[in-house]
Amino acid sequence: MEFELEVEKLATTPCNITANELEALLTADSNHLAPLFSTAAQIKTRFVGNKVYFRGLIEFSNRCAKDCLYCGIRCSNSKAGRYELSDQEVIDTARLAADLNFGSIVIQAGERTDKQYIRHISSLLEQIHAATNNTLGITLSLGEQSEETYRLWFESGATRYLLRIETSNEQLYKKLHPNNANHSFATRLNCLELLQKAGFQTGTGVMIGLPFQTEADLARDLLFMRDFDIDMVGMGPYIEHADTPLYAHSHLSPPVQKRFDLTIRMIALLRVMMKDVNIASTTALQAIRADGREAGLRVGANVMMPNLTPLKYQENYFLYQNKPRANEHTLTYIRELEASILRAGDVVAYGEKGNPLHFYSREKK
Ligand code: SAH
Ligand code: SF4
Repeated sequence: MEFELEVEKLATTPCNITANELEALLTADSNHLAPLFSTAAQIKTRFVGNKVYFRGLIEFSNRCAKDCLYCGIRCSNSKAGRYELSDQEVIDTARLAADLNFGSIVIQAGERTDKQYIRHISSLLEQIHAATNNTLGITLSLGEQSEETYRLWFESGATRYLLRIETSNEQLYKKLHPNNANHSFATRLNCLELLQKAGFQTGTGVMIGLPFQTEADLARDLLFMRDFDIDMVGMGPYIEHADTPLYAHSHLSPPVQKRFDLTIRMIALLRVMMKDVNIASTTALQAIRADGREAGLRVGANVMMPNLTPLKYQENYFLYQNKPRANEHTLTYIRELEASILRAGDVVAYGEKGNPLHFYSREKK
């Protein structure tokens, strides 16, 4: 059958599938997709194992100098109450992650590039490592920075960096961002290259189901990640936020269930194409369906980012509406996640940093 052939072609190494073939799988009737999902699950088991790595998410600050048209914490949204965690709060949260035996944390925030901020992050990295005896892998997700800044943060002890390209289609990127030098597709692309050059395990990703986005765009996003030799991916459905300019175009997005379905297909396709990368099952999936993150694990994802941000700040890190918040009781929240991971046939890899295996194969090249 035609679809089985395409899945077979996906599974070859190196993967030589074309954009048209990927688009066919993204638009195919769901009745035809069982071979794709089962191949993705098998490849996950074989290449990265049925282990899920926890990265404790610290939403460090919602202060942002940028104005992305889709994001609830863009600088023009005056309704967002702004905050930044104190050093003590960051250290305490990192210690909590270490005490819970998570191998890693992610520090995420809006984008700032002033000197004082850059030095502050560097100092936080050093303080976290000192407070947790270098037991944690640290991922940063702090947007576009200079080569010098990336190098400084790498030297200060961060080993991974997440910078979503958001969409690999430059024309679409322009529709999602203000038309000025502070929001340039070329700069974002260049930053991804700088991150690889600085030695980071480099992650990217896209939003799925954006207004104006087509399945052909998503197919090319997958090829972009393959051709960029990316180590880690976090893709999730786009979810509108009423206080953003893109909200006016909501009618141009597919229904949320369709965005969910497309995200699941994207995860499965990426796992088959890039067998040894780390793929996150994102919170935005859970915003659409309570068992959304479990569904991502079933088709190839192997990373979860439990939100450890102190609860009183979580409602202010409001990237999109209905963004799920962690349970008031951290242990209950973790137990619920563990149960969903077991239901998906996986186990939590406690105490492991879980570096993406792809990083090592890329380094060898
Ligand atoms: N400021 C940094 C990191 C924080 S934003 C940066 O932009 O890289 C992290 C991610 O949230 C963004 O990359 C974007 O993909 C996602 N995001 C923002 N608004 C969103 C929305 N409305 N729906 C879904 N994801 C969104
Ligand atoms: Fe700022 Fe990131 Fe939101 Fe853009 S997506 S407005 S850079 S937090």
